[in-house]
Amino acid sequence: MYFCKTQAVALKKGDYSNSSQIVAFYTRDYGKVRALAKGSKRIEKKSRGPVDLFSYMEIIFIQKESTGLHLLTEWESLRDFPAFRKDVERFYAACHVVQLACELTEEGDSNEPLFDLILETLQRLSLTRYTEVVLRAFELQALKLLGYLPQLEECVNCGADFLGDPGAVFSPVGNGLLCKRCAGEKALQSLSPGAIRAAAFLASSSTTTCDRLRLPHRVSEELKSLSLGCIMLALNKPLEIRTSVK
Ligand SMILES: [Zn+2]
Repeated sequence: MYFCKTQAVALKKGDYSNSSQIVAFYTRDYGKVRALAKGSKRIEKKSRGPVDLFSYMEIIFIQKESTGLHLLTEWESLRDFPAFRKDVERFYAACHVVQLACELTEEGDSNEPLFDLILETLQRLSLTRYTEVVLRAFELQALKLLGYLPQLEECVNCGADFLGDPGAVFSPVGNGLLCKRCAGEKALQSLSPGAIRAAAFLASSSTTTCDRLRLPHRVSEELKSLSLGCIMLALNKPLEIRTSVK
């Protein structure tokens, strides 16, 4: 038997039986894992008790390669986020983060910077009043870490620099940004110079720094469309938004 000890964030939870839960975690060392928490609903304690959504935890599990459903042997919450239970906007924002983390990753594919990004984003969302910019930064940075963010500096077709260009368009087929000349008359999603600059800044700044940026709503909407376009390419289908996300 092989015991794995790691830090984890609870992305999704469901009932397995009256007393047990199945939980999907994103872990620091093993990427996304699904595990059975036997008896978790019977114990009202911080250690080995019910696992809450978004909880930052330390877990020990036994790998079950045959089924892919691992067995939790120890788990303890290191931090949970009461702010998400008190404020519906923050709750939906946190749901969007864990949904993206769940859908964009494969089980067992570890990515430590992505783990840090998920955790920092949840921490930030629990504190900030400006959830919108934190979400846009999370989307862009997660896409970048997973290799799904197109280059934002130059045209994917001719290499023209976007600095000083009157904007660009996102081409899902080309998986990148095109200058207006290369895009021609095709009806593609247009991005203003301000949105390109904001995307480049948010994709490469720390979560705390991003939080200080105030995005005009129009620019935020452009960035959201860019991220949703990239997510659709990555998943090969549109993201099913289950909750109201700014
Ligand atoms: Zn071009």
